[in-house]
Amino acid sequence: MRLDITPPRTVSRKSTASPAHVGRRFAAAGGLLAVFGAALFGCAGGGSTSAPSTGASGAPPLQVVTTTTVFADIVRNVGGERVVVASIIPAGVGPEDYEPRPGDARRLASAQLLVSNGVGLDDFLADLLRSGSGGSTPRLVLGDGIPTIEQAGEPNPHFWLDPSLVAKHYLPAIQSKLTELDPAGADVYRVNGAAYAAALARLDEELLALVGSLPPANRKLVTFHDAYPYLARHFGFEQVGVIVENVGQEPTAAELASLVAAVRSTGARAVFGEAQFSPKLAQTLAAEAGITRVVTTLYNDALGPPPADSYLGMLRYDIEQIVGALR
Ligand SMILES: [Zn+2]
Repeated sequence: MRLDITPPRTVSRKSTASPAHVGRRFAAAGGLLAVFGAALFGCAGGGSTSAPSTGASGAPPLQVVTTTTVFADIVRNVGGERVVVASIIPAGVGPEDYEPRPGDARRLASAQLLVSNGVGLDDFLADLLRSGSGGSTPRLVLGDGIPTIEQAGEPNPHFWLDPSLVAKHYLPAIQSKLTELDPAGADVYRVNGAAYAAALARLDEELLALVGSLPPANRKLVTFHDAYPYLARHFGFEQVGVIVENVGQEPTAAELASLVAAVRSTGARAVFGEAQFSPKLAQTLAAEAGITRVVTTLYNDALGPPPADSYLGMLRYDIEQIVGALR
């Protein structure tokens, strides 16, 4: 959903505005953002494309293509109406086993900035770029330079499920890259970035308190794929099992049996499946381990329908479901 009725988002790409005028407008926008905060951002995600702005100022918005809907939502919140953001992967679809579609190369070719995560999450992008389109387009790889958690010898790419990593790494990188490509928008990106960081910090504090209300012994995660090491570290969960080590590769009967034994021995209270995958394995594991609580609708790599249609909405929805099932 595009926020073209809210004052902070209507800051147009006006290259003729005097600096003083710009300063006043952005101060007002910042105040409004502070007031409306999370409510504004809560409905900013979902669609994979927002329509181009046709402001009277004339300068066209920056065309940004991201690999996933999560990154699209974050970039859109920092860029406001100075950017038009499209995600290559649609909502509800995961990146690790994504098969590019015929139109994807064309979308890359028209982009002015490509935003990906790296660290193995969205390697399909490299294949698309090798196939000829968009090789010279500016890139932003959000995971560059973030210390990784290694699991089974592989660095895990799911940094964004720890909001503090988004605040510390993703947001400054996005703001800086947009400013580099569109210096006239520096003030907009700074104001929007600060407002979004504030909304994220408020949400993070609230979610930390929610998790903190759980007895420590209950804070155990059994999840479908390996998306939660950073979330677990940040919020204080122990990861006791992952059903699928490599996306697209189901566990063998022996692997599942050993996971059932491990889960039983830890006393985990729930099994968490994910909306982007079939719930069958999570339900099987739970049944065999004697666990009655199965959540099948966590979101992580891709946004979904409301309330998981924005990055902030997804975080809240996931943590509320996790805490509800572990209580
Ligand atoms: Zn993933």
